[in-house]
Amino acid sequence: MTMLRLPTMVDVHVHMRVPGGEHKEDFDSGTAAALAGGVTQLLAMPNTSPPIVDAAIFDVAATQAAAQARCDYGIYLGATDENAPLNPALQRRAAGLKIYVNDTFGTLRVESLATMQNHFRAWRGPGPIVVHAEGLFVPACIALAAQYDQHVHFAHISRGSEIVAIRSAKERGLPVSCEVAPHHLWLDERDLPRLGPYGDMRPRLATEGDRKVLWEAVRSGVVDCIATDHAPHLREEKESNSPPPGVPGLETTLPLLLNAVQATRLTIEQVVALTATNPRRLFHLTEPAESYLEVEIGALWTLPERGWQTRPDWSPFAGERVAARLRRTVLRGQIAYEDGVVHAAPGSGRDVREY
Ligand SMILES: [Zn+2]
Repeated sequence: MTMLRLPTMVDVHVHMRVPGGEHKEDFDSGTAAALAGGVTQLLAMPNTSPPIVDAAIFDVAATQAAAQARCDYGIYLGATDENAPLNPALQRRAAGLKIYVNDTFGTLRVESLATMQNHFRAWRGPGPIVVHAEGLFVPACIALAAQYDQHVHFAHISRGSEIVAIRSAKERGLPVSCEVAPHHLWLDERDLPRLGPYGDMRPRLATEGDRKVLWEAVRSGVVDCIATDHAPHLREEKESNSPPPGVPGLETTLPLLLNAVQATRLTIEQVVALTATNPRRLFHLTEPAESYLEVEIGALWTLPERGWQTRPDWSPFAGERVAARLRRTVLRGQIAYEDGVVHAAPGSGRDVREY
């Protein structure tokens, strides 16, 4: 058994369900899950209810986050057909601008090219434009990145054909980056009969062939970040007649990645780049001072059905055998998580755009 010290992780794609879905997750339970998974900075998506599309709703989410968060957080603004241009002062407070081009959970969706052009013309950041784009919408967003010289970050890329488009854009020097979610690396459509509604998310699980291309793209550096797309829903919601898409992921990503290191599918340097260095650079985030993870390598255990910090308390990876365990998360010199217990208090987390 060896202990390893690693930089704390950033998760640029998390659903905190605030406001309006707090029974699924809020900043209290969600940031506890983050610390238990080695994440000290998370960026929260705006497809809430109501969606975070103006200063008033942004303030509602930011006030709840300031009171409840146990780790550091940023909050995205969502693009609508009506809200471009967004106030520059509000842009500076946001994690980034999220544009939903494809259908997903919630009502946020942009449907016209003119709206896309308005947002691409007006966005100044510092966070990037993050797009949920699948299939043909990937090259469309690459063209917009080129036309407006705007950094576009592709959320949860899941298909081999999309990787081909992004690799080619990067080779041409265009300002694009992308993330892949653990469920698209560790699961594919062959797992659907076993998982049922617990394997339903957007984008849907892909083929074994897609999964191979994603792994190759992670290893070769075409993929910049691993982001969980942590999208919590309760068991009774998943087992209802209309199960919502999405799976939790904050607490299972680090053990899965360290398993990949032990299996020599990834190096530890690649894991650090994918979970810490790259997302901090791409989203203009400062690493919190005196913060690190302590991980025990060689500790065999099975990811459990229950006992998670996330409010829905289930995982699509339950039953997976892993060989590494997070022992400690240290944030700003304090033990924020240790051996199954979250010590950081609600309200101790900071807004990543305020330091
Ligand atoms: Zn998402």
